[in-house]
Amino acid sequence: MKEFECKRCGFLIYLSPKDENEPLCPLCRGTMGETGDEKKTKELQIYKCSECGRTFYVKHGEKPYKCPFCNQTFSLTPRIKQGERL
Ligand SMILES: [Zn+2]
Ligand SMILES: [Zn+2]
Repeated sequence: MKEFECKRCGFLIYLSPKDENEPLCPLCRGTMGETGDEKKTKELQIYKCSECGRTFYVKHGEKPYKCPFCNQTFSLTPRIKQGERL
C-alpha cells in the first residue's frame, strides 16, 4: 500500500498502487501527497466508504472522519478528542 500524507495536518492514509485518484485528507480535507513509503496490508486497518464504495487504509487506532474520495462522513468515528497531539 502506498503511503499518502496530508500536506496540512500530516494525517497518513494508504492506498493500493492501482488507485489513481488523488485522495483528500480524511480529517481536514487538505491535499495529500505520496511520501514514497509503503506498508503491508496486515499492518493496516481497512475502511470502506458506504457512499462511493472505495476502500482505503489507515494505521491501527487512527480514525478517519471523511472519505478521501467523496463527501461521506464516517458517523462511527466522530472526532471529539482534541488532546492527543504531541
Ligand atoms: Zn489533513
Ligand atoms: Zn466515499
